[in-house]
Amino acid sequence: MIEMKQVYKKFGDNEVLKDISLSIPAHQVVAVIGPSGSGKSTFLRCINGLETITEGSISVNGHEIHANTSPKALKKEIHAIRQETGMVFQQFNLYPHKTVAENVMEALLVVKKMSNEPAYQIASSLLAKVGLAEKENAYPSQLSGGQQQRVAIARALAMEPKLMLFDEPTSALDPELVGEVLKVMKSLAEDGMTMVIVTHEMKFAEEVADRILFMADGFIVEDAEPQAFFKNPQTERAQKFLQKVS
Ligand code: ADP
Ligand code: MG
Repeated sequence: MIEMKQVYKKFGDNEVLKDISLSIPAHQVVAVIGPSGSGKSTFLRCINGLETITEGSISVNGHEIHANTSPKALKKEIHAIRQETGMVFQQFNLYPHKTVAENVMEALLVVKKMSNEPAYQIASSLLAKVGLAEKENAYPSQLSGGQQQRVAIARALAMEPKLMLFDEPTSALDPELVGEVLKVMKSLAEDGMTMVIVTHEMKFAEEVADRILFMADGFIVEDAEPQAFFKNPQTERAQKFLQKVS
C-alpha cells in the first residue's frame, strides 16, 4: 500500500526526514511513536501529499511521487492519493454550522457528486458504526471531544479510503474520552483497514498495531513488532523514550 524509498524532507536547512525507506502492506496497522519534533507528523503528511518530499520517492497504492516529479504530474498523483486516503488530525475541524450527518455527507455531495438521499444513507450507517446513530442531527458544539473525533473518523470513512492516517487523534481529548475513540480505531483495524497512526497511547499501540516505527531526529530508529519493541527496545533512544512515557 505504501512504499517509501530513501525519502528526505527539508524545511529550508532543517532536515526533518532522513533516509526513510519502508514498505507497508495492505491491512497492516502501523503505530508511529517518538519524541516531539522527531518528524512523525511530517512523515504522515508526506504520505498523502500535504508536504512534498525533497529527495526519494513515495508510492501509495500504485500512485508514485518522486522528488523530481513535475508540478503537473505531482498534482494529479496527489489528487489520486487523497481520494484513497483518509486523514484524522488532533483537531477535528468539523463544520460548526452543519449537523453531524451533514458533516459526514459533505465530501459525498461535493467530491462524489452524490444526491442527498444515498449520501445520507451512507452517513447514517457510518455514524452507527462509530456509535453516534442518535447524534445525526446534533451540531458539533453539542458533542464532546470524543464524539466529535468519532464524527471526524466517520467523515474520513465516507470516501471509502484504502488507507487511513491518524495524527495524534486522541491528544486533544480529556482522558476519559480517549477510550471511545481508540475503540473505534481498534474496530477499523479489525475490519482490515490499512492504518498509520501517530500516537502517544503506548498500550493501544502495543495491543492494536502490527508494527511499531520509532522515530527520533528524522530517522526511523526502530521498526519492530510491538511485543519485541516494548519488551526489548534495541536502541538507547527508544529505551529512554519508553522510560519517560511509561
Ligand atoms: P512531530 O510530529 O514528531 O512532533 P513534526 O513532523 O511536526 O514532528 O516536526 C519535525 C520538525 O519539522 C520540527 O523541527 C518542526 O519544527 C519542523 N517543521 C514541521 N513542519 C514545518 C513547516 N511547515 N515548516 C518548517 N518547519 C517545519
Ligand atoms: Mg506531530
